[in-house]
Amino acid sequence: MKICVMPGDGIGPEIMEQGVKVLNVIGEKFGHKFETTEALIGGAAIDATGVPLPDETVKACKESDAVLLGAVGGPKWDTIDPAIRPEKGLLGIRKELSLFANLRPAALFPQLKDACFLRPDIVEKGIDIMVVRELTGGIYFGEPRGTKVENGERMGYNTMVYYEHEVKRIAKVAFEAAQKRNKKLCSVDKANVLDVSRVWREIVIEVSKDYPDVELTHMYVDNAAMQLVRDPSQFDVIVTGNLFGDILSDEASVITGSIGMLPSASLGASNPGLYEPIHGSAPDIAGENKANPLATILSIAMMLRYSFNMAEEADCIESAVEKTLSEGLRTGDIMDVGGKLVGCTEMGEAVIKNL
Ligand code: NAD
Repeated sequence: MKICVMPGDGIGPEIMEQGVKVLNVIGEKFGHKFETTEALIGGAAIDATGVPLPDETVKACKESDAVLLGAVGGPKWDTIDPAIRPEKGLLGIRKELSLFANLRPAALFPQLKDACFLRPDIVEKGIDIMVVRELTGGIYFGEPRGTKVENGERMGYNTMVYYEHEVKRIAKVAFEAAQKRNKKLCSVDKANVLDVSRVWREIVIEVSKDYPDVELTHMYVDNAAMQLVRDPSQFDVIVTGNLFGDILSDEASVITGSIGMLPSASLGASNPGLYEPIHGSAPDIAGENKANPLATILSIAMMLRYSFNMAEEADCIESAVEKTLSEGLRTGDIMDVGGKLVGCTEMGEAVIKNL
């Protein structure tokens, strides 16, 4: 298995170092050969080559079976030409690999329940949600789009459009994710108002016929936003379009209260999947051994589960993370009363010990 590793900027190299160590231990333990190659992206790539996504990086990613990313960006590159900003590297690689499905789990580890923003009686019921967001269609890309002056006043417009093939393929990813979890899928739309949502719903129902073991429900997006904070335990997998998914995946993850804990996966049809923590490059703590490497380590578990079908290996990593938290080890971002403050390296080493 070939894996392209892109540490990126800020805390990227620190968290990735711990992640790769975990991957190597899993390889030894389960008898797999993970071959890793490093590639440049973001600010690090700008410094070395002048562009945020060099051709060699694209080539290295396409020749791999999966891609791991740390984070990109930082104040050093905030004032450069917007056309070559570090974030362009990230958007560029998602496009190059045609990654149309974004999987964002938002799970609350019971050990971290005090970090959750919700009332204890709501948290008690548990939070373990996977938001599957369509990533390359919908209103962010629909045509026509633009701004103009009409009858003497400025106006702007975008178009929310979904084609059958786009809905079918994202629905398929979501049903398959539900099959690997608790077999419940909620499709979120705005079918009471939007024509595009009525087509979306129709197609999702058609796809559901191939997944009789998964229970499908539908919810309007405004209600879904409310239900996520009122009773998140009702959700297993949520599938939705690009705009609604952008908002709901952030809402779902922030209620858990710990940005340093959350992994993500972006998947395409046959290209390698890309796995990354949802947080940014945290320039405020970069190079200080303070970053939480667990989101990266959990992203590696996702890679094993979704790109390599290695459920047992993924479970092993997730259990080791949970055990480490049970032992009371905490980086600064998840520190609580009674916790033992550790750095990025110590947290990584503790997970390895618990593998
Ligand atoms: P951020 O996620 O980098 O940081 C927000 C806060 O969370 C900071 O206080 C930071 O210290 C903390 N934090 C984040 N990850 C942490 C971790 N693993 N352990 C401990 N604490 C952690 O978001 P920001 O400050 O808005 O952005 C900083 C830079 O990152 C910007 O240049 C931004 O463009 C970039 N960014 C990149 C990505 C990405 O690469 N996917 C995502 C978001 C932001």
